[in-house]
Amino acid sequence: QQVEASEKTYTIATDVTFPPFVYANSNNKYVGIDMELIKAVAKKEGFKVEIKPIGFNAAIQAVQSGQVDGMIAGMSITTERKKTFDFSNPYYSSGIVMAVKKGSKVTSLKQLKGKTVAIKTGTSGADYANSIKKKYGFKTVTFDDSDSVYDDVKTGNAVACFDDSAVLQYGVKTGLGLKIVTKPTDTGNYGFAVRKGHNQVLLNKFNKGLKALKKDGTYAKIIEKYTGKKA
Ligand code: GLN
Repeated sequence: QQVEASEKTYTIATDVTFPPFVYANSNNKYVGIDMELIKAVAKKEGFKVEIKPIGFNAAIQAVQSGQVDGMIAGMSITTERKKTFDFSNPYYSSGIVMAVKKGSKVTSLKQLKGKTVAIKTGTSGADYANSIKKKYGFKTVTFDDSDSVYDDVKTGNAVACFDDSAVLQYGVKTGLGLKIVTKPTDTGNYGFAVRKGHNQVLLNKFNKGLKALKKDGTYAKIIEKYTGKKA
């Protein structure tokens, strides 16, 4: 039997402000669904994690360059990303929505003509906005973290933003000051990711741990704790 001191430590990169998946609580501790999941998986599978809250796009780069072992950051499993990442089995599903400042008269894509829309670097929300910006005639402004995206909408520089429905729904509920005006599109799954062809041992441990957490009720408990919804 292995002694605890021999447990392997994996470095895991994550986003900084992406509640309810990852965010700093009032004690400056990183919490949320993703943080609790990876820690619970590590406990089940007998390894340690060192969390690197470096931001979503930086996390993507860090995994691809092999600076960290993996990332968990509300990351959507996409065909494009599968070229450079190996993903775990899905642990959550979410789509992309448009949000505006509370009280704004902008409620549709058509009203974005000539306006500025805020997006987050490297995200599927940004890809979605970029794919329709010509059609609807809007400009985009990019930020590295979601808080800056929302602030840009709240100050009125941008009239809207595109981000994950699960995150914006949580934001609306917790008094972010934004409202969602479109139905979720491009709904997909979140997965834990490693560099393609690397860290397969870690990936397998994640899948095994996730399965066990689903079986023993821990997964459902975590989801309910942060979303109020049954998993
Ligand atoms: N789910 C989105 C993506 O994978 C956003 C992730 C994030 O901003 N942390 O691109």
